[in-house]
Amino acid sequence: MTRSGKEYIAGLRDSRRVFINGEFVDDVTTHPAFRGAVASLARVYDEAHDPANAEVLTYPSPTTGEPVNRAFLIPRSEEDLRLRRVALRRQAETTLGLMGRGPEHVAGFLAGWAARSDVFAAAGDEYADRVVRFYEHVRDRDLYCSYAIVPPQIDRGKPAHQQADPHLYAGVKEERPDGVVLAGAQMLGTGAAISDYLVLSCIVPLRPGDEDQAISVALPIGAEGLKIYSRRSYAEAATSVYDYPLASRFDETDALIVLDDVFVPWERVFVYRNLDITRDQWNHTPAHLLGNNQAQIRFSVKLDLLAGLALRVAEMNGTAALPPVRGTLGELAAHAALVSGLVAAQEQNCRIDEHGVAWPGAAEAFAVMTLQSDFYPKLLTILRDLCGGGVIQLPSAAADYGHPEARADLERYVQSPGHPSQERVKLLKLVWDMVGSEFASRHQQYEMFYAGAPFLVRTRMSQVYDFDRAGALVDRALAGYGVDGFEAGDGFEAGDGFEAG
Ligand SMILES: Cc1cc2nc3c(=O)[nH]c(=O)nc-3n(C[C@H](O)[C@H](O)[C@H](O)COP(=O)(O)OP(=O)(O)OC[C@H]3O[C@@H](n4cnc5c(N)ncnc54)[C@H](O)[C@@H]3O)c2cc1C
Repeated sequence: MTRSGKEYIAGLRDSRRVFINGEFVDDVTTHPAFRGAVASLARVYDEAHDPANAEVLTYPSPTTGEPVNRAFLIPRSEEDLRLRRVALRRQAETTLGLMGRGPEHVAGFLAGWAARSDVFAAAGDEYADRVVRFYEHVRDRDLYCSYAIVPPQIDRGKPAHQQADPHLYAGVKEERPDGVVLAGAQMLGTGAAISDYLVLSCIVPLRPGDEDQAISVALPIGAEGLKIYSRRSYAEAATSVYDYPLASRFDETDALIVLDDVFVPWERVFVYRNLDITRDQWNHTPAHLLGNNQAQIRFSVKLDLLAGLALRVAEMNGTAALPPVRGTLGELAAHAALVSGLVAAQEQNCRIDEHGVAWPGAAEAFAVMTLQSDFYPKLLTILRDLCGGGVIQLPSAAADYGHPEARADLERYVQSPGHPSQERVKLLKLVWDMVGSEFASRHQQYEMFYAGAPFLVRTRMSQVYDFDRAGALVDRALAGYGVDGFEAGDGFEAGDGFEAG
């Protein structure tokens, strides 16, 4: 059953230990660092919970028959992927494509794992059962899972087991009859502070000797010993929604996760000290593709927002009809269309596996991941270029309009035809929160790294692309001729080919 926003918020009031600004937070739902993001996600929950949206945003749970969020759907056809995209796009539009790790992200990973639980069964059927039961648990209760699947940057020159302390990277410290005790840290729990469960695993290649880190588990955020060290909050630093319209509402926060002897019962252990399954859960199931397909649907919304901002700024500045500006708008539009096209192509080129599960097209998914780390910063620069100094020549805060003398000057000098001062400033402050604020800068880092370090993504791209087909084309181009000209065949005589034409 879907939850209302209120139910989501109520679920966050527990024993969670979230640390920021030198202290642990009493209640993330009211703390200024988190409440804006919580309110935004509550709206996302409300929309799916609204019966008027049920047909688009939900589907009946195969176990209870109740409507559940379509983000949990295990796709079995191109049409399923399309329906999933329509729903995920609607949800991403609610947060303008600016919350990368909302509930619908890890939902895709869990669906991918449950769809191919046989991969987990390689260690015993009980592991597959646990994966499926956890997936059904969160799906049918509409719970929000965040994840931390990368070891902290301590010393990447050595594998986990050769670090100075064997419990720096999150892993098994002790095995008990009823479960395991985990210790260490993991990065980078985006949204962890405002989620219900943390999925903890490792996507970075592990080596023999790293078995303690070769795990996949789910922890309630309030689990004893689990600590969430949030980065600085941009929402809290925002002076008003008018001054920072994005940071104040969509700062999902990122955090270092620390496990201080956290007990995990066996029913929440999906992979245990198994290097092969820790690796295979990402690529031998559709989890990674489904999760990143969602990430790109969300990214596509964000690119539309960027293009729309460029258009509105150009219109306001009276430059929209100038040919060079049209060209600039066209360049932004090309990137937005490229991503939405590649997302659609993931549906058309999906692969239905032997279990009847639809995997989004891998080459198209990795193409977006590969290219976006390069072009997202470039698109921000294009929007900056269109804005010139306008995004800097702005009143210091909404409060400036409260001062009669300042207000009169602002209304006279900071305005455009058809755009009174407060409207002009409102648009340009929105643009600045997209391209120049600390929130915007974090977003740049996010789009460069959320899918992994760019050099790794490029390598993976080279593995999923059909190089056999590409290579065969070269062989074809090279076939049938040599230093002696054409070989006989294909309408040529042996030795032909020395004369042009
Ligand atoms: C805003 C943000 C949010 C995130 N949210 C999450 C989240 O919710 N959950 C989660 O699990 N993770 C999250 N991440 C982490 C993300 O998955 C990692 O940043 C990503 O996997 C890259 O790992 P890294 O940061 O350790 O970079 P590194 O692997 O350390 O790479 C950094 C750079 O070092 C260089 N480098 C490193 N190793 C090599 C090598 N072998 N060869 C050549 N060059 C190399 C490259 O220039 C590379 O770009 C988030 C990251 C960001 C920035």
